[in-house]
Amino acid sequence: MAHSHSYLIVEPCPLIKGEISVPGDKSISHRAVMLASLARGKSKIRHFLPSADCLCTLRAFEAMGVRVEKEGKTTLIIEGKGGQLDPPFEAIDCGNSGTMMRLMAGILSAQPFYSKLIGDRSLSRRPMNRIIEPLRLMGARIRAEGKENTPPLFIEPSTLKGIDYRLPIPSAQVKSCILFAGLFAPGITRIIEPVPSRDHTERLFEQFGVRTLREENGSIVLHGGMKLEATEVDVPGDFSSAAFWIGAAAALPNSELRVRSVGLNPTRTGLLKILLRMGAHIEESVESHTRGEPIGSLWIRGNKLKGTVIQGDEIVGVIDELPILAVIGALAEGITEIRNAQELRVKESDRIKAIVTNLRAFGVEVEELVDGMRIQGRESVQPARVESFGDHRIAMAFSILALKANKASRIEDVDCIATSYPGFEQDLYALTQSFSKEWMDEPKKIKGFTQALTKAERAEEVKKKEILYPVITIDGPTASGKSTVAQKVAEALGFTYFNTGALYRSVTWRILSLGYDIHDEEKVVEACRKLKLRCIVQKTDRFSRAKILIDEREPDEKTDLRSAEVNAAVSIIASYPRVREWLLPFQRELAHEAPLVVEGRDIGSVVFPESPYKFFLDAQLEEREKRRERQGERDNVEQRDKLDQSRSSAPLCCPVDAVKLDTTKLTIDKVVEKILDILWKKGLPVAGLKTAAKT
Ligand code: C5P
Repeated sequence: MAHSHSYLIVEPCPLIKGEISVPGDKSISHRAVMLASLARGKSKIRHFLPSADCLCTLRAFEAMGVRVEKEGKTTLIIEGKGGQLDPPFEAIDCGNSGTMMRLMAGILSAQPFYSKLIGDRSLSRRPMNRIIEPLRLMGARIRAEGKENTPPLFIEPSTLKGIDYRLPIPSAQVKSCILFAGLFAPGITRIIEPVPSRDHTERLFEQFGVRTLREENGSIVLHGGMKLEATEVDVPGDFSSAAFWIGAAAALPNSELRVRSVGLNPTRTGLLKILLRMGAHIEESVESHTRGEPIGSLWIRGNKLKGTVIQGDEIVGVIDELPILAVIGALAEGITEIRNAQELRVKESDRIKAIVTNLRAFGVEVEELVDGMRIQGRESVQPARVESFGDHRIAMAFSILALKANKASRIEDVDCIATSYPGFEQDLYALTQSFSKEWMDEPKKIKGFTQALTKAERAEEVKKKEILYPVITIDGPTASGKSTVAQKVAEALGFTYFNTGALYRSVTWRILSLGYDIHDEEKVVEACRKLKLRCIVQKTDRFSRAKILIDEREPDEKTDLRSAEVNAAVSIIASYPRVREWLLPFQRELAHEAPLVVEGRDIGSVVFPESPYKFFLDAQLEEREKRRERQGERDNVEQRDKLDQSRSSAPLCCPVDAVKLDTTKLTIDKVVEKILDILWKKGLPVAGLKTAAKT
């Protein structure tokens, strides 16, 4: 099995500040796709969560003949099959998702074909008897093929009938599985819940035109055989994803956070009640109720919280929030106890064990109980290197705890975060970064860098040529992997990517298109000085880069900058000392705008010699020539290297204080991982984190 090497480095940050809206609700996204696929007509789902888990559900229905159109990443138009799906050709893969497997089992039990449900390693260990038992009572022919009723599940066609069923444990997944099967079961299906669990299924059924009734004793009644009609669904922000920020903001004194467009269904917001009891400052405002689910905003201000006991009926409403609650407890005053939470042992991981192990690694005193834990709160924690246990909520909860350490911590194997919260890393970076920017406004607090200044002071500094922000330099010969590596490093750190080769190429392209003879040094220098050149920091959601405008136009990367003509001419123009001198301030000034990852030939040696973060990439000539060829470019690598190395002004060389990496046999991701690791060890002072991709 491929081993994942993704990890997250979290820098300390004493508080978080800002505004956030989180991706769509996982539970509702799964259910909305299921119902839309079973309904008659075209449904529209907005703010769908495109996480690994929910995409598995979507793929499964596509495999059963459901037509899906996507508008962007989060709007789906689903043409339902009116209850009758096509037999899938293969086993249905539920990935990591217990919700998907349990709900699909209810749906497929009613279909007139054979089907098989499989899942990943973690899902394959989770108990399925809790749904097999009631489904069999309804007449389903379903069996688990794994040990002790674990997946895969094998389902044969059968005729269902309604039943009365008392849930032995409160579980929204079991309830929903029975309700989905009940849609196709003649007669009445009645479910008695010991404690009300999340009711998204009931609310969505109603949106799709099928009403369930709640009897006085709390049981839920569904009449079988009713038809689902297509509708529009607005998925609220996932409260369980927001919970990490809510918890962080509440427990880190002086934090200020607004969470927008988040689902505030009372069966989900148990965390708020507990936090209030612990002394948190939270305000809640429901802003829309139109389509089934309450959606609104939360305002949270941080202060020191007090420990509490979380147990009994309260547990089901915070089952997904217990990892972050444990982290909050570790930062509260006194003892926090979690009881009656044995269900945690059969989640995506044994969450009790995972939480206890990780809390201890951070230096927190904690006692493991069969059904929970007892946590001794403390002022701060020690930095740690911990596992996610392949569990998204463990990975995210401990990223939050890491903010309270005095040095960077490392969370291993964080790919799993994408099962519920794609973009978590970026959001963590944004919420801690906005704070660190503010911090930078107070001069002289971070060692190593000149701090943010008034405009006049800044202008002075620019004159003195000091840089304001950290700069990572990556130099090396042609096709040594600089560009891709630099981009990935920039993305991981939230820095701005600056390709100075593109600067030399832009100038060359313009000089060529103006018809100059590139060998006439005098004319070229004169022409360059007349060009209007601007380098601007351009930010997009995920990524920030330096955009180069020449005479107010951005040349096209492929057709203009990487043409055979420019490839042949660029190193000649780049060898003219006065051209280089002219370009120097454009490069340095960008370090007054944003933290940078800059790649080129002389970045560590000439442009930013004061940077403590210098890298030099190299690879064997043969390998580099192959790489260029694969990119389909006409480029004489050897000749360009020779020109770059032998010119009198700023020749290509490895600065003495740079870390040299030979990339001949390394993958890009491996190089990125190494660089991030070195930066971390050098103590790059950014509040935030970095991720390294899989190798
Ligand atoms: O990195 P790239 O191959 O796009 O660079 C094109 C050319 O620009 C290099 O071969 C070199 O001659 C010149 N260059 C330079 N100094 C830099 C970046 C690029 O001389 N910092």
